[in-house]
Amino acid sequence: MSTVIVAHEPPTRPELTLADPREPIFVLVTTYASFVLVGLALVPAFLIAYLFFFQDPALVFQSHPFHIVAIGIASLEGFFIAYVTWLCYRSSGEPLLRWMTLGFLGFTLIYALHGAFTGFANSNIWLFLLYGPASRLVLAMLLLCALLSYHRPVDAADRRMSPRPWVMWTGVFMLVDLAVALVANSSIAGNPALRLSMEGGALALSAMNVMLLLLRRIRSPLMVIFAISITAFALSSLAFMLGRPWNHMWWLAHAIFAAAFFMLSFGVAQAFRTTRSFSTIYSQEELMARLARSMASTQDALREVKLTNQALERLAATDSLTGAENRRRFFERTEAEVERVGRGGAPFSVLALDLDNFKSINDRYGHPVGDDVLKEVVQRCLRVIRSNDSVARVGGEEFMVLLPNSALEAARVTAERLRSSIASNVFVSGVQHLADVTVSIGVSQFGRDGADTVEAILRMADERMYIAKQLGRDRVISA
Ligand code: GH3
Ligand code: MG
Ligand code: MG
Repeated sequence: MSTVIVAHEPPTRPELTLADPREPIFVLVTTYASFVLVGLALVPAFLIAYLFFFQDPALVFQSHPFHIVAIGIASLEGFFIAYVTWLCYRSSGEPLLRWMTLGFLGFTLIYALHGAFTGFANSNIWLFLLYGPASRLVLAMLLLCALLSYHRPVDAADRRMSPRPWVMWTGVFMLVDLAVALVANSSIAGNPALRLSMEGGALALSAMNVMLLLLRRIRSPLMVIFAISITAFALSSLAFMLGRPWNHMWWLAHAIFAAAFFMLSFGVAQAFRTTRSFSTIYSQEELMARLARSMASTQDALREVKLTNQALERLAATDSLTGAENRRRFFERTEAEVERVGRGGAPFSVLALDLDNFKSINDRYGHPVGDDVLKEVVQRCLRVIRSNDSVARVGGEEFMVLLPNSALEAARVTAERLRSSIASNVFVSGVQHLADVTVSIGVSQFGRDGADTVEAILRMADERMYIAKQLGRDRVISA
């Protein structure tokens, strides 16, 4: 009872006004935002068209070191983002993230050789070139699997932790590496249909991926990033098909691919920094709605805590039988009065009140009737005193009344009215009528007759009450 939680309201409450999605301007802005996203996804297409129509395809920039460094960096980034995606997968168990991890891993293990074999560009062009389309085809396949697994149930914890599938898949990617090397050294390598079909396959799979995304109306923020990235992957394959080794279209294809890769890895980073999941990243709208809901419920909870606290405080300060204040509260109030007088306030007085021969009331009528008498005494006190005065039950049938701003004479008058209201009116409890309930009252004023501490003024009121008893009860003693 003594610990009361006090809830403080935050000093400034941020106002959240949510946009109304039915407003025409909201619809317009949403449509605009969609157009911007589509436009953004298609920027590579404008660049490809520009080069295609205005650039001499014979112009080349053949720099082996630049190519090696660029692919080297891309490979490091690929391993890193595969690792981060795997961390996300391990945490959320989303199959989509499992496939994406495989996509990044497979792509990197194959694409790295495209960089590593740059030196063969002149002697064995196919050994150099074919790893590019092969890596993009593998990536496109695995990202399509990723999309197809979107919203599938998450993997069980033991499956997530198992290293076996990763070892197996690494083996598969190594086999692809080997297969590409064999093909590159075979007679079919020179057939342009080979490179075009790999690149075209990557393009078709990526296009299918985007189409499915649109058809399934997947709109979560990370999946929007996913969609834009896949669109760029598809367009990079297109640019590779249109380009020739070392010409500008070919370099642009690299750049588009890199941009797509950056964007998708940005999505992974966002997932990692938040829910480590691709499907349960909330949209901004959803976040705002959630925030508003939780703020409303926090406010409700705060209000409730406050009401509960008030109720607790009341309970902690109240006597449960009569509803009068209890001894603890009475002492607090008296101490506050002493301080107030110390600051120059008007004097206050207290009444000590004890029911006369109460034991015999209990004996004659029974304890429950005695209880009713105690309750009625409190009611009569409350009727006589002013709103600033208070009555407390400090013992079984003993009460104290605190009278702020009352000197001894005024307090004596109040005490007399109280005594008379009890003595001259019949008490009724059930069928019982009690005509002989009386009280003895002692009055003391703070700062008078040496009563200059809380203890002293209460002792003096008590002593005077006992004098009233000795003088025959049913009376007020104030000196
Ligand atoms: P006096 O005039 O000298 O005060 O006589 P008294 O009978 O009132 O004396 P005393 O103070 O010794 O008795 C108090 C009685 O009050 C004893 C006890 O049974 C009774 N009492 C105390 N608390 C309660 C209560 O909560 N309900 C009821 N019904 N009786 C109570
Ligand atoms: Mg008594
Ligand atoms: Mg008593």
